Amino acid sequence: MITLDGLRKEYSDFLLDVDLMVEKGRIVSILGPSGSGKTTVLRLTAGFESPDAGRVIVGGRDVTNVDPSRRGVGLVFQDYTLFPHMSVHDNVAYGLKYSSVARAEREATVARLLGTVGLAGFGSRDVRTLSGGEQQRVAIARAVAVNPGVLLLDEPFSSIDAPLRKGLRAELVRVTQELAITTVFVTHSRDEALSISDMVVVMKDGRVVAHGTPVELYETPKNRFVAEFLGEANVFSGKVSRTVGNSWRLEAFRDFTVDNSAPSGSEATIMIRPERVAISSRATGQPNEFAARIIAAQYFGAVSEYTLECDGVSIVAASPMRFARGDAVYGALEPSSIVVLDDP
Ligand code: ADP
Ligand code: MG
Repeated sequence: MITLDGLRKEYSDFLLDVDLMVEKGRIVSILGPSGSGKTTVLRLTAGFESPDAGRVIVGGRDVTNVDPSRRGVGLVFQDYTLFPHMSVHDNVAYGLKYSSVARAEREATVARLLGTVGLAGFGSRDVRTLSGGEQQRVAIARAVAVNPGVLLLDEPFSSIDAPLRKGLRAELVRVTQELAITTVFVTHSRDEALSISDMVVVMKDGRVVAHGTPVELYETPKNRFVAEFLGEANVFSGKVSRTVGNSWRLEAFRDFTVDNSAPSGSEATIMIRPERVAISSRATGQPNEFAARIIAAQYFGAVSEYTLECDGVSIVAASPMRFARGDAVYGALEPSSIVVLDDP
């Protein structure tokens, strides 16, 4: 388990102020724009920086003033930081060499971990002859070899080709689960954060602005920043009018019925994801239906993304159905998929 308790760090024009708790064995992603403080959180947790205030607690032990090498924390960075003149085996064995682990046990650990990361038989290879993905797998094996309770990764797959990245993510999840390692994974990729994490922490300007499960943050974000940072979002503001039972109406560019607890004020901002906007070529009588024209179409294979225009307003819809630019269609916003945001 990791607890960051009132952790503060000030640089000339930047203030980090973070509280965070990661339960044992969980994978938490820290997602945020560049400069939001993600790397600083990792450096403070690892002990490469000391905080101006607050405490770092790892596995129940206050390690705020403990040397990085004695925190029980493994690290993997974006740029391969393997020892270039050593074999794969020697890289993975490195941390064990100076521990009290007996030679036979050390060799068994190295062999087992190389198997775990899919590199059995690679032990004698010079790390410079490996691909980027293979190098990062060695880096993961090396980081977990010393049996850390905690693994910290700073954008580890960002210099790796997209097709390989998916496999590496799956592998990371499997390895950390198998070894029950508490993992903090920094990324600026929303797909990466959503797909591998038990929890996602969203940072902005040195603070945690949201945290929750991937489903919570994607489907019911609290505000516009989080909504737009986690995916494509249609956001509309308008006056709240008549309430009918559990539904209420929002007067945006047209009236919409929203099946949700009514917002407290007289103005509201709502959000709906593109895949919750239905498109059809004929009127179907669904709630919140509107006539529209397709003004842009992008084909992605599994789905296409369509920009609909209605009364001068653009709405993005995602659908596996095929339409063409210029088509007259009907769009519909599923009332229960509309989320009320906190924004004014
Ligand atoms: P991220 O990893 O989210 O891109 P960082 O944690 O690297 O963000 O940086 C957050 C802010 O802190 C940035 O404005 C950066 O310039 C500043 N910063 C980070 N490290 C230092 C440092 N050692 N000295 C001064 N400013 C720093
Ligand atoms: Mg960074």
